[in-house]
Amino acid sequence: VTGYLQRIEERKELNAFLEVFPAEALSAASRIQEKILAGKAGKLAGMVIGIKDNICYLDHKVSASSKILDNYTSPFSSTVVERLLAEDAIIIGRLNCDEFAMGASNESSFYGPVKNNADITKVSGGSSGGSAVAVQAGLCHAALGTDTGGSVRQPASFCGVVGLKPSYGRVSRHGIISYASSFDQVGPLTRCVDDASLLLEVIAGVDEKDSTTSSCPVQSYSKMRESGGKRKIAYLSEALHSSGLDEDVKLAFERSINSLREEGHIVEPVSFALLEYVVPAYYILTMAEASSNLARYDGVHYAYRSDQAIDLETTYKRSRSEGFGPEVKRRIVLGTFVLCAGYYDAYYAKAQKVRRLIRDKTDEILAEFDFIMLPTAPTPAFSIGGASDDPVVNYLADIFTVQASLAGIPAISLPAGNNPDGLPLGIQFLGKRFEEGDLLSFSKNIE
Ligand code: GLN
Repeated sequence: VTGYLQRIEERKELNAFLEVFPAEALSAASRIQEKILAGKAGKLAGMVIGIKDNICYLDHKVSASSKILDNYTSPFSSTVVERLLAEDAIIIGRLNCDEFAMGASNESSFYGPVKNNADITKVSGGSSGGSAVAVQAGLCHAALGTDTGGSVRQPASFCGVVGLKPSYGRVSRHGIISYASSFDQVGPLTRCVDDASLLLEVIAGVDEKDSTTSSCPVQSYSKMRESGGKRKIAYLSEALHSSGLDEDVKLAFERSINSLREEGHIVEPVSFALLEYVVPAYYILTMAEASSNLARYDGVHYAYRSDQAIDLETTYKRSRSEGFGPEVKRRIVLGTFVLCAGYYDAYYAKAQKVRRLIRDKTDEILAEFDFIMLPTAPTPAFSIGGASDDPVVNYLADIFTVQASLAGIPAISLPAGNNPDGLPLGIQFLGKRFEEGDLLSFSKNIE
């Protein structure tokens, strides 16, 4: 703990931590040390963990990196935090992220962007950028992030760490600040697949406080050995030809295909004509859900209220206008639009149908293959301030991560070397629903 605290202080410019809990972490460490000596320590004894700032922790601030929740203190702990603590993890602080987890570069945070430790002029990725950089820069052992459409996997790939999005329903969302409730999942960011396995084993499982959690049994992921068997893996032919795919990302992807084949795995192209619909379907549905979820920030219930509020209407209008940032406002407006009576069928209902098609087609591929492989992101980390002014261009960069989110299946991003400038690249594997064990044991083989 002392070492990590020192390193956090030394690397403050990265802007990964929004708050550190030094006294608490040190006293937890000595308490847990005694438990270890007494032979009574939990599975995570001594593991120093940072949590994304949208994960509630009793009596600690949680802001979702938004001005509207600045200085808000949580009156309860999320299920994932309770499960970490029950296994003697040490929570060292809360980590910067995109505002309400909306973004892919951590630049929408009210507290400023997180810098990539491989090159501090580059973004960390997002929305769990603080979580990825904290692990990348050795500021903590592991971190928790949330992934709605790639927010664990994409920053993991930009920072050269492992990022796992579990199946929808695998991990409780109780106490997670909602963005899009039918997509949101908590996932670990770690240095290796073993740590991801151990963390998933601890946080996963049915929870009476979240009725969308599955009772599908949680395996002892951490005890599972590397799977030696030869596997059948599909890659999407459309992905390799998608516009905007960076040359180095493509080369790294082709290298991974070749080395898997050399190891005896079967790797075959399959066609997935729905690829061009994944981003539109994802954004219509998530914006709709976000506009509904964010209605609760009304200047009355939580945190920020405008000084200019003089009656009910100005309380709502001014608090929300001043409290939310531009990306969040854009999504609330668009989400409200696609849900309104005259457009509901044309947009929201249509996108639900497209989601079903994407899920069915993905399941069909996974009935024939063990895994689907994809690059995690079409490019390596880009420059801070270098994203497009056109939001649609930025949304399209989520093309490879949102398929797993729409289908509700598990997906992992693994480091796949660096580009010639030393920027990390990532490769992604998608597995069958609730078969995280298989995905993790295969990943151990190839990391
Ligand atoms: N970039 C995607 C979005 O902005 C993913 C975000 C996430 O997974 N939380 O919606």
